[in-house]
Amino acid sequence: MKKRYLVGNLKMNLNAVADVERYLVSMRKETSDQSDDSVEIVVAAPSIYLERFSLGLPEGVVPAAQDVFWEKEGSYTGQVSVPMLRDLGVGYVIVGHSERRAYAHETDEEIGRKVRAVLHGNLRPILCVGETAEERDGGRTTETVANQVRSAFRDIPPLSAERVLVAYEPRWAIGGDTTPETEDIFAMSTVIRRTLSEAYGAAVADRIPVLYGGSVKEALLDRVCLAPKMDGVLVGRESLYPHEFSKMAGVLSRDGSSPETGM
Ligand code: PEP
Repeated sequence: MKKRYLVGNLKMNLNAVADVERYLVSMRKETSDQSDDSVEIVVAAPSIYLERFSLGLPEGVVPAAQDVFWEKEGSYTGQVSVPMLRDLGVGYVIVGHSERRAYAHETDEEIGRKVRAVLHGNLRPILCVGETAEERDGGRTTETVANQVRSAFRDIPPLSAERVLVAYEPRWAIGGDTTPETEDIFAMSTVIRRTLSEAYGAAVADRIPVLYGGSVKEALLDRVCLAPKMDGVLVGRESLYPHEFSKMAGVLSRDGSSPETGM
């Protein structure tokens, strides 16, 4: 059975240590009965709190970073390196989130460097790709997403490529109430897999998890993840509520163990 991924992105929330501690207490309570290893639960915390998350998340929930710099060390004021993250017990790093592309003007080339640095440091990148509303309206969704994937995987050998997770996150669906239709999510996961297949062949492409992200809620899991046969979800706002987040883990694992899914 293929593993599913439930990735929470807390973004720049939990603005005080006391809020972090409350969140962690609640996560430990809510996920205490999630002993199921069919779903990998990952929480991306603000970097300043990663040590607390590493120590305080329940067993089996893996801490992640929301960004990283590509150099290992040196005169890069304000940056955080892969070795620093690894030392804190971080397992995954979100790379190329649309908010980084928009507010920090990250380019595809920089995102590719980050993906390579994360892999080189033996952590797993969660690469975010997705079109803006303008690109969608201009009929450039496929071209945009395929180019983002090609550029991020450039110079990555097949064995390392299998350690990357790709999250399809249409930018217009993040932080709002609108999600794409199931068929559109399925179509974009096909574009992503086809692009990966061209580089690595179908067998490797099939082993690279493809997630959906953008306004995910528990009630939408069927429509945005299970029906289009995605390998999991990347969740922003709802991951701030451990109760809701852990319900999603339950839905993903129950569906995975159901005989009708054929997975
Ligand atoms: C995100 O930040 O990646 C995200 C999907 O956010 P939201 O779930 O709030 O749309």
